[in-house]
Amino acid sequence: MTLLPINSLTLTLVFILGLCIGSFLNVIIMRAPAILMQQLKQQAHEILTISPQKTEKKENITRHSRCPYCQVKLKPWHNIPVVSYLTLKGKCAFCQHRISYQYPVVELLCAIIPTLICGYLGINISSLLLCLLFFFLVALSVIDLKHLFLPDQITLLLLWIGLFINIFNTFTTPSSAILGVIIGYAILWFFYWGFKLVTKKEGLGYGDFKLMAAIGAWFGIGAIPFVILTSSIIGILYALLLSLQKRQQQRMIPFGPCIALAGFIYPFIGHTLMHAYWSWVIM
Ligand SMILES: [Zn+2]
Repeated sequence: MTLLPINSLTLTLVFILGLCIGSFLNVIIMRAPAILMQQLKQQAHEILTISPQKTEKKENITRHSRCPYCQVKLKPWHNIPVVSYLTLKGKCAFCQHRISYQYPVVELLCAIIPTLICGYLGINISSLLLCLLFFFLVALSVIDLKHLFLPDQITLLLLWIGLFINIFNTFTTPSSAILGVIIGYAILWFFYWGFKLVTKKEGLGYGDFKLMAAIGAWFGIGAIPFVILTSSIIGILYALLLSLQKRQQQRMIPFGPCIALAGFIYPFIGHTLMHAYWSWVIM
């Protein structure tokens, strides 16, 4: 069911909305790990019943944005997505410290990809849900790249949304979505313990299992073989790229972005790529 016609005006609106959502995601990406760390410290203090935690500034999503280096409050126009980065030439207006490329890249990705999705599929419930999935996956990927973990608050919310939308057979049947969660989680869980028993090292994190389960919730059990195979290929290519750049000192490679990319491309080219994999195996 089409919600809005596709024309230059609606696609421009999608683009601008995507820029704003990208700007909000940058806030989540910056603050969610700090909020989680504060909560963990608080819990540790309560469990250990040691002296009360020293009062430190509480992080939250709604506080006014500041420069992370000089802590000066940003002016409203410094928050305009991409435009502010270009006008400030990628530097803080107060201390001239370089602003991370992450900000314009996330904002542009969140504008361009949803515009392409809506241009290709039309503006309907399915395409808007795929845009929502994309926003979640961008936030998770950047957090995993920066901090090597995937917050439960985001992976589990994504999983519940996937189960909920498939009550209405949006991308798959409810039973396939439930099986997708169970099998997606279980396969990586077995792989994790098998790898740990053999090598005494941890190859994956529990956040990876939950993200795989979330992709299973969105696209059903049929997506799991493709996502496992494709994310592994992406992971190997990423590791090779890093070793070519002589950056082996990085101890762990985040697997979340690999699952996210494989899960996101599944509804578009999953079946075609799976046929290609099979034809290579048969050859
Ligand atoms: Zn500054």
